[in-house]
Amino acid sequence: MTTVETKVRQVQHFINGNYEASSDQQTFEVKNPATQEVIAVVSEATEQDVEKVCEVAREAFENGPWRTMTVAERCAKIRRMAEIILERKEEIARLEASDVGKPYSHAVAGEVPRAAHNLKFFADFMEQQGGETYPMEDAYINYTRYEPVGVAGLITPWNAPFMLTTWKLGPCLAAGNTAVIKPAEMTPLSVSLLGEIAKEAGIPDGVVNIIHGKGSVVGTAITKNTDIDLISFTGSTATGKAIMRNGADSLKKFAFELGGKAANIIFEDADLDKAVPVSIQAAFLNSGQVCLAGSRILVQRSILDTFIEKYKAAAEALVVGDPQVAETKMGPLVSEEHFEKVKSYLEIAKEEGATLITGGSTPELAPHLKEGYYLQPTIYLHENPKARICQEEIFGPVVTIIPFDTEEEALQIANDTQYGLNGVVWTENLKRAHRISHGVRAGTIWVNCWFVRDLRAPFGGFKKSGIGREGGHHSLEFFSEAKNICIAL
Ligand code: NAD
Repeated sequence: MTTVETKVRQVQHFINGNYEASSDQQTFEVKNPATQEVIAVVSEATEQDVEKVCEVAREAFENGPWRTMTVAERCAKIRRMAEIILERKEEIARLEASDVGKPYSHAVAGEVPRAAHNLKFFADFMEQQGGETYPMEDAYINYTRYEPVGVAGLITPWNAPFMLTTWKLGPCLAAGNTAVIKPAEMTPLSVSLLGEIAKEAGIPDGVVNIIHGKGSVVGTAITKNTDIDLISFTGSTATGKAIMRNGADSLKKFAFELGGKAANIIFEDADLDKAVPVSIQAAFLNSGQVCLAGSRILVQRSILDTFIEKYKAAAEALVVGDPQVAETKMGPLVSEEHFEKVKSYLEIAKEEGATLITGGSTPELAPHLKEGYYLQPTIYLHENPKARICQEEIFGPVVTIIPFDTEEEALQIANDTQYGLNGVVWTENLKRAHRISHGVRAGTIWVNCWFVRDLRAPFGGFKKSGIGREGGHHSLEFFSEAKNICIAL
């Protein structure tokens, strides 16, 4: 049985509290990557539409009640948004499964509740914030308060659209800013609901705006717009560079969460009963379309054969199929273009002399999925960590096992990358766990686990994986301006 959505939705921009078409009525189509069916017709903004939405957000910031209302009142509305998201979680998860192709079971149990939590967490966290006070003997009192920056451009990718947008929107709103959200054009469905959810929660019109269209047009126009004060961007390293260039003239504040190519290092003393299933998740969750994917699996040579045997069996047991069906563990890739890009690495792997352990072709599929962008979980073994499949972010269900002999060699391979988003270490030796965690140059290290998040903790990348940190006070600082006030007594 399939529950793939067949209704074609109409998706419009959300500007100043209302849905609106583009000024020139242009639209684009969104397809279900599991079937290639058209599932939505989406308004495609012009540069003039972007100008308008940025003006609206500016006006709401300057003259609306949002930034001056009490923190308690503001945060209560953000918490209400979180409640509405939980009330609508099945619907949101279905949409996310329809345009991203991610398993509904994961969206409904994991990402949508996390999205609600993102908002609630930052509302609660904001209410706990204070400022600094510096009594200057008896002559002056000197204190600091944190004020909103202004209008934020929130530009998000297609791999976890709803979760990643709320991860930015929570601190943006809690700090008192207004927002122009630009979701990825391939996956606008779930994010398009955030405007009406904000409105229902009592957030004033003009505070949460959403605009759809191509990154090269709409993303660029937001980046250059002088009403936008700051850009929080999650996406590829290449787009991050373009945004930095385009935003330079208007001297914006930037936070960048970019690509990754994490090393997942498995030492001979690792508990393989834990390391194997978690490393399967780290490789194939969301069809490997996860910035934190542990896509370079470094395995100590003494356990290489045992690891490969267990890992191969676990990958082959993954149920690949219809994202809307409960038992599916892996859906399709997001689009034809991305499917072709990921498949090109199968050719590259062949040319580079990698050994195929499993996968590399289309899985067995139900008839209605024959047109979907599916690839089997694919595992290579390669001795050369400089190979392209070991260096480039493939962003698909393709991982490479790289053998190593010593701790030093493992560290050397782990750090031999332009990326530094995260790393994973498997060992039962506490001293080694610390040594390796300190040695890997990345923003997050998970020891004997993966993707375990505490929203207070800093999250972000070393090297080409990002600029700045999100999470807890790191997010609030980005979305705030510190003001120091000195009063003579
Ligand atoms: P992308 O960079 O192609 O697109 C991301 C967003 O930027 C989209 O909304 C797109 O329309 C927009 N965009 C594209 N060109 C633009 C431009 N010139 N100016 C402004 N905006 C523009 O990325 P993607 O393919 O959607 O996402 C995959 C990438 O995102 C991967 O590299 C992945 O590692 C990264 N990612 C990082 C994190 C993290 O937290 N570090 C999380 C998820 C994804």
